[in-house]
Amino acid sequence: MFSLPICSAADCGRWAIRDRDVCRDHLDDPGGYDREIARQLADSETITDLNITSAELQDLDLSGKIIERCILSHVNLRGVSLANSRIRLVFFDFSVLTDCSFKGAKLHSVVFAGSQIDGCDFSGSDLLRCNFCGAQCQETLFDESDLYASRFIAARLSRVGFKDCNLKQVRFEHAQISEADFRYSNTEDAFFEKKAQTL
Ligand SMILES: [Zn+2]
Repeated sequence: MFSLPICSAADCGRWAIRDRDVCRDHLDDPGGYDREIARQLADSETITDLNITSAELQDLDLSGKIIERCILSHVNLRGVSLANSRIRLVFFDFSVLTDCSFKGAKLHSVVFAGSQIDGCDFSGSDLLRCNFCGAQCQETLFDESDLYASRFIAARLSRVGFKDCNLKQVRFEHAQISEADFRYSNTEDAFFEKKAQTL
């Protein structure tokens, strides 16, 4: 990845966020910071090498952007469009994503582990080697997507569409799946529940 400065607050030890010498917890005005970073993201065609851990962004159009090597862990995104974007090596772990669009986006090695994904649309996208392990995902569409070698291990998937997807090498072991639509997808090439090991 890239080297990150450490927060200047005494004994903190967390990484400092973009354009500040402190981490999110030590910001004086987190709301003001979010507005500043939203403008900056919207104005950049290419977004690389930044850490905006725990930022809260709403109703933002980031469609068509190139986003690489970024840390968006614990972010809260609502109504953010990343449609047709190209996203590579980005961490969205433990994020809360509500009503966000990744339609037609090309994602490679993107981490959504431990996230809450609600009402989002990933349809028509490439999601190659992405990590949704332990994610809670509901009312979300992955229809007509290439999910090659992505992982949904121990995820909770409820009312989720996987219609007409490429599921080659996709791992769903220990996932709780309810009301999912896998029609026209090659489920035989994916890995589902294995019997729990008896110790
Ligand atoms: Zn700090």
